Amino acid sequence: MGQHTIIIGGGGIGSATAAFLASSSAAGDRITVIERDPTYQTASSSLSASSIRQQFSTPANVQLSQFGWEFMRSCLDEARVPGGAVGLNERGYLFLGGEHQAGSLRQRADGNRALDVAIQEFTSQELSARYPWMRCDDLAYGAVATAGEGWFDGYMLQQLYRSRARAHGVQYLHGNVIRLETHGSKVVAAILADGSRIEGDRFVNAGGAWSAKVAHSVGVELPVRARRRTIFIVSCPTPIADFPILIDTSGIFVRPEQHHFLCTVSPEAKDDHDDLPLDPDFSLFDDPIWPTLAERIPAFEALRVERAWAGYYEYNTVDHNGLVGQIGPDNFVVATGFSGHGLMHSAGVGRAVAELLTHGAYQTIDLSALTPGRLESGQLIVEDAVY
Ligand SMILES: Cc1cc2nc3c(=O)[nH]c(=O)nc-3n(C[C@H](O)[C@H](O)[C@H](O)COP(=O)(O)OP(=O)(O)OC[C@H]3O[C@@H](n4cnc5c(N)ncnc54)[C@H](O)[C@@H]3O)c2cc1C
Repeated sequence: MGQHTIIIGGGGIGSATAAFLASSSAAGDRITVIERDPTYQTASSSLSASSIRQQFSTPANVQLSQFGWEFMRSCLDEARVPGGAVGLNERGYLFLGGEHQAGSLRQRADGNRALDVAIQEFTSQELSARYPWMRCDDLAYGAVATAGEGWFDGYMLQQLYRSRARAHGVQYLHGNVIRLETHGSKVVAAILADGSRIEGDRFVNAGGAWSAKVAHSVGVELPVRARRRTIFIVSCPTPIADFPILIDTSGIFVRPEQHHFLCTVSPEAKDDHDDLPLDPDFSLFDDPIWPTLAERIPAFEALRVERAWAGYYEYNTVDHNGLVGQIGPDNFVVATGFSGHGLMHSAGVGRAVAELLTHGAYQTIDLSALTPGRLESGQLIVEDAVY
């Protein structure tokens, strides 16, 4: 008899896992994705800034980005529209550093180069010559990857995984998992809000910002919290040519979005509460986004908010990195906590979880560093580049 794998959550991570697992499953295996909202209205994968970068301080994250890019490039031929099936646009992330940030950014660039990421570095004068529309007098450093960075359509990426999974026979079940039932050292069933009981042999928690609740029902406490992030789409009357994906010294993120710009910033820690309602926090545009951006880019003095939305980071409060692997019951695997970089890494994470379930070990990218076991062992891997 084949194995029945149950995946809780059919967003980018759950659907990527289903698609990769299904493509390598043995005859008789079954995969069910239980998703409570097939419209994905509050799923992070639908509400994301959907950008991909190669520049990370954790080697596993760099490798996941490399595969994420390769995967999305491979989808270019699938749809006869610019950007392919996932709307991919290539554009480098330009990280800006003041005097006190230059050292760590340089160190990160060296680490990234060692992993075959081509990085171009700039002095303040070089930045000023290259980006004449930007104020650079307070800058000491800039770094951009020369390939493999850009943005895409997160909803389309998630739908691509989902349709691939379904084409391989994965069943999507509309239901809300209220708890998991255990017997001895194993999870045996998912209990849904309508009272139904879905039995399985192994369970993957891909519940994103809600994954801690799912884990709690099997006695596993995950440090993953729903932290609201607001995206603003803004217009600027002055066209600015050759605009990169910009990460300002302040941590503010801004990139082109069709004829407008998309910008966001994480709130200060004191305001970053769990489970805030998904209403955009417009105060963040008034301060710090607008004044900071207008200071950096004089043409942005005339920015105007066209629209805004909010989504949740599935935020790992301990070290801001994904938690991937078995924890608690023997047949319980989690893939969550990506803290703002889960979508670009979804292909690599989905493939890795499929490998773990199929072979008992990683076959391609080694994600052992992301084991949830590190929460107990204390071998944390703090990702510096989280915005
Ligand atoms: C504003 C914002 C900007 C971001 N920018 C980027 C970016 O530029 N690049 C990037 O890579 N990432 C970015 N991210 C992060 C990225 O969107 C997430 O890491 C990624 O989408 C997580 O995917 P997921 O499948 O884990 O979660 P989700 O997409 O949220 O999917 C989880 C699913 O699980 C379902 N679910 C949860 N609990 C249950 C349950 N009990 N029963 C049934 N179903 C359940 C939910 O309905 C949901 O559909 C951003 C996120 C936000 C909010």
